[in-house]
Amino acid sequence: MSKHYKHRGHHVSSAIPAGERLTLEVLAIAEKAGAKAGYAVAKEELYRSIGNNNEILNEQETEELLAAAQRAGSAAALLAARKVIDKTLRSSFRSNAEPQLSADPETVATQVSPKNYEEPLAQYSPSLGNFQAPRKKVEQHVLTITRIEQLSANMVRIIGAAPDLAGFRSNSALDQYVKVYVADPELGLVPPYDIHALRHRLPREQVPRSKSYTIRWVDTALNELSIDFVVHGDPGTVGHWAAHAKPGEPLVISPARSKSSPSLDAQYYVLAADEAGLPAIAKVLEALPAQAQGVALLEVAEATSMFDVKHPEGVVLSWLPRNQDPAGRSHVIAEALRTLPLPTAPIGVIAHAERSTVKAINHITKYGNLDKRATHISSYWTLREGRLGVNLPRHSTQLF
Ligand SMILES: Cc1cc2nc3c(=O)[nH]c(=O)nc-3n(C[C@H](O)[C@H](O)[C@H](O)COP(=O)(O)OP(=O)(O)OC[C@H]3O[C@@H](n4cnc5c(N)ncnc54)[C@H](O)[C@@H]3O)c2cc1C
Repeated sequence: MSKHYKHRGHHVSSAIPAGERLTLEVLAIAEKAGAKAGYAVAKEELYRSIGNNNEILNEQETEELLAAAQRAGSAAALLAARKVIDKTLRSSFRSNAEPQLSADPETVATQVSPKNYEEPLAQYSPSLGNFQAPRKKVEQHVLTITRIEQLSANMVRIIGAAPDLAGFRSNSALDQYVKVYVADPELGLVPPYDIHALRHRLPREQVPRSKSYTIRWVDTALNELSIDFVVHGDPGTVGHWAAHAKPGEPLVISPARSKSSPSLDAQYYVLAADEAGLPAIAKVLEALPAQAQGVALLEVAEATSMFDVKHPEGVVLSWLPRNQDPAGRSHVIAEALRTLPLPTAPIGVIAHAERSTVKAINHITKYGNLDKRATHISSYWTLREGRLGVNLPRHSTQLF
């Protein structure tokens, strides 16, 4: 969907003549419908691909792809609509112009110049971009960091507070997450950030970035919430910000989101996560009924990276240090999973980790006796070696 449509909506200034307004509204509707169609087709293709167990994109890649499909859909629909309107305007222009041509060809020749004859829609380029309408409210909640707790060498818990949680409302989903927005402090931007306006004003690398993070807990009595961040040391925006954040600074988050809330009544659970998925899996562990049975495979940097996580007695926590292997290149979860003795009863699998780990988990569990209602496996991040400027050695043994 084009920025113009999305943020200006159907509203078109009332100062515009009725005929032009109608044209603009038709273009806006086409643009919106095209965006929807592009989105729907891409989404269906993605689901098919996941169903066939092909490539699994992580959330950010999925969002980028769907946004591109929206843009492509809206551009195609807009082009088609412009052609139709253009044709209609030309023929109505011709039929209005013809009687005059026979009456006074010279006058008509000046009125029907090649310019205004051939480009009846030229004034609408770029479509709708010239028309100002009230912007949608910027949907961000701006809290203030009140405390920071070091959970392990590479995880910090940031606690933010605000009167009435700055309007943030929990959606109570098990995997409740938000986008955390981070801006370069040197730019002096004041949140909430009008990302779409800033995209026009600033170079791409200066526009505030946002990444998905699990809401670890919300305390409505104290008007506080917390998020656990992996401080991964790579040149990531949000991880880097979390490593250096200080009390008093803003914590800028989107409204609550959720992808799935698997049921918690399976007879046996296999839970798995690396540090990025750990907050979400910790929430599952806390929410499982006291009699739940299962195992949680938790990948961490090293033995000293473990920390307290509440869990039912029947769910065994298996901390898996990857030691010298870098995050995203370890096979500890897959190796543990392949040798895990599993009951014959249907099992629920809930797993969130780096994309290749998630692919391996999918591969290993897909032929098992899965309780699908209690299963949700999704990639939380993707190792990008190219962007690091480092070429880490590949493992010589291919496990899957
Ligand atoms: C629904 C959902 C919930 C999530 N919840 C949490 C959460 O509660 N806590 C959390 O820490 N993460 C969570 N994540 C993962 C987080 O969004 C990603 O790790 C994100 O890419 C981090 O952004 P960044 O700006 O720090 O790094 P990016 O700019 O995305 O990446 C920069 C570099 O860092 C590497 N990198 C990115 N993430 C990691 C990582 N976790 N470990 C090691 N290297 C990494 C990349 O390969 C890349 O090379 C969640 C993701 C999803 C989809």
